[in-house]
Amino acid sequence: MTQAIYINGEYFSREDAKISVYDHGLLYGDGVFEGMRIYSGKVFALEDHMTRLYESARAIMLDIPIKIDALTTAVNETVAKNGLTEGYIRLVVTRGGNQLGLNPFACEDPQVIIIADTISLYPEKFYTEGLDLITASTIRNHPAALSPRVKSLNYLNNIMAKIEAIRAGCIEAVMLNTKGEVAECTGDNIFIVRGDRLITPPIDAGILEGITRNTVIDLARENGIEVAEEAMTRHDIFVADECFLTGSAAEVIPAVKLDGRVIGDGKPGPMTQKLNAAFRKFVAR
Ligand code: PMP
Repeated sequence: MTQAIYINGEYFSREDAKISVYDHGLLYGDGVFEGMRIYSGKVFALEDHMTRLYESARAIMLDIPIKIDALTTAVNETVAKNGLTEGYIRLVVTRGGNQLGLNPFACEDPQVIIIADTISLYPEKFYTEGLDLITASTIRNHPAALSPRVKSLNYLNNIMAKIEAIRAGCIEAVMLNTKGEVAECTGDNIFIVRGDRLITPPIDAGILEGITRNTVIDLARENGIEVAEEAMTRHDIFVADECFLTGSAAEVIPAVKLDGRVIGDGKPGPMTQKLNAAFRKFVAR
């Protein structure tokens, strides 16, 4: 089956799915997006992703030219059209625009794009062996500059941290906030286990409020695990019993090293495995 990519209500092949070089999404990273998983033919947590998309758009004063219900239907239709039972969706709304210049109010043609594809973010072996992380020297966007709660097309901050990770021989980096606390990773939220408690940085540490993060928090509580949203430093990760990351693309992935320090016994821990199993079961419902 050839790929069908949605742009503003029409479907195009991969070759023909194109937007203007004047689009503010390209010129300035001006737009918002979502990344979602398809499990057994259904988009996981679609409503939560749609809410976050429209909230991100509201925060940057971008009027999405289609109602949330109609766009939700379009996402499901795109999944069906592409015949995907397992996969990944990238939903993008750019500011549009047809001239050079920063003024977003001059842009009258936001572009709504839905790409349904497959993704494998990290090689399979890291799901069984765990990731080796570094702390990036690139600080996560200050919330007063560009709130990390806005899932904007401007990912340069995260890309700078990703460059550091890859140059250090790792594939993911921990990003700190301006206070030196742990915020999140370049494309994932972070959790640690200390004793029988599960701890993750709070939203006001300057993070994206991840939908996988919220799912894992709920599943942990349902399993009687105490969860705290608490500021943490690198030290807390160094001395943690376990560490794992969450994201729609990453799902639940263990991390076993940070900046050369072995976390716990250097293997994916029992609580990580338990929560990963609960997550797998939950998404397969
Ligand atoms: N933090 C960042 C910076 C992200 O880009 C993402 C999503 N890729 C996440 C966290 C995880 O969010 P979610 O679980 O909603 O995919």
